[in-house]
Amino acid sequence: MIRLNGVTTTEGRVIDVSIVSREEKTIDCKGLTLLPALIDPHVHFRTPGLEHKENWVTGACAAIHGGITTVFDMPNTKPPSNTLERIEEKKKIIQEQLKQADIPLHFGLYLGADKSHFDEIPRCKGKVVGIKIFMGSSTGDLVMDDDESLDECFRLAAMHDLLVAVHAEDEALIKQREEEFRTSTDPKVHSVIRNDEVAFRATSKAISLARKHRARLYILHVGTKPEIELIRQAKKEGVNVYVETTPHHLFLTIDDYAKWGTKVQMNPPLRTKEDAAALWDAIADGTMDAIGSDHAPHTLSEKSQPYGKAPSGIPGVETTLPLLLNACNQGRIALSQIVHLMRERVLSIFRMPPNEDFILVDMKKKKTVEEKALKSKCGWSPYAGRLLQGWPVYTILKGKVYELA
Ligand SMILES: [Zn+2]
Repeated sequence: MIRLNGVTTTEGRVIDVSIVSREEKTIDCKGLTLLPALIDPHVHFRTPGLEHKENWVTGACAAIHGGITTVFDMPNTKPPSNTLERIEEKKKIIQEQLKQADIPLHFGLYLGADKSHFDEIPRCKGKVVGIKIFMGSSTGDLVMDDDESLDECFRLAAMHDLLVAVHAEDEALIKQREEEFRTSTDPKVHSVIRNDEVAFRATSKAISLARKHRARLYILHVGTKPEIELIRQAKKEGVNVYVETTPHHLFLTIDDYAKWGTKVQMNPPLRTKEDAAALWDAIADGTMDAIGSDHAPHTLSEKSQPYGKAPSGIPGVETTLPLLLNACNQGRIALSQIVHLMRERVLSIFRMPPNEDFILVDMKKKKTVEEKALKSKCGWSPYAGRLLQGWPVYTILKGKVYELA
């Protein structure tokens, strides 16, 4: 049994709590707030094939340190997770690595949509959290951008009642704008190439297809105001569309290229202050369904290359919660909203049973994000140097207590 003495609830009451466990442990929780453990519905733990960037030993450790005990992992690995066999193989590798880490993290996997493997969709029902479609190119080669394949994929997903998650950027428009703007080596051109219109076109198309086939659509990492307005309207009209945003779209903007360069290059890219404000409004009015870190690490040397060569993606699994707790201390978001966006709503969208995992957070603790303290294999963060108030101090996963350094 784990005894949490004098712990504060999200409503502000101070109580004693016992958690079933094989461990006998008593934690003095004076000043600590108890929350259910969080879910990160969007990570790239890079396994198999890209383990020099991340694996499930370092990734799980980073997740635990970010108050996260469940992750959903993306299929753009090497090879990509585009068949049932590859999904099963990946699960085995993950289980081995989690054993090695001694962290029994909960995880779900996405099937990568691939037009030459549509027969895998019914085969993977019940084995994956959903189907991931890359409508625009990013890390890996899982792009599927032709209308005929997209239509067929949505039809099959709806027929087999699988959630469709989309990376919504219009590939044709990206290609066209790359031709036009690639002469610039300033990293901020990344947000010019992959502009609002690139995202809006793909998001509109995905919503039309969800409407047509009555599919359940989850739009990943939405960062622009026009998309939010479109999604808000589609929800009103009864389309089964859910929207995720990321910490970087909430806490970074195009102004951050000046300091961080290609380190803050990701897909979809950073947006303006007005876009970030629209995301916060969507959190406030309940339009926003989820926050996923889109933890997509690359090594420092990969990211140190000039624009055009540096890969897109940033780490985030262990900094998302501290950033949100700090925002909570600033009155920008409530603890209950964090739990809604990173747990309750995710469980309902992905139709998962709740777990008995918890985290203890110290809302008064002030700490600067330091790269040397990070657990992710990549070892860097675009939030390094930020002084944040509000940190997780314990994570309790399957009755096992992890004291966070
Ligand atoms: Zn991603």
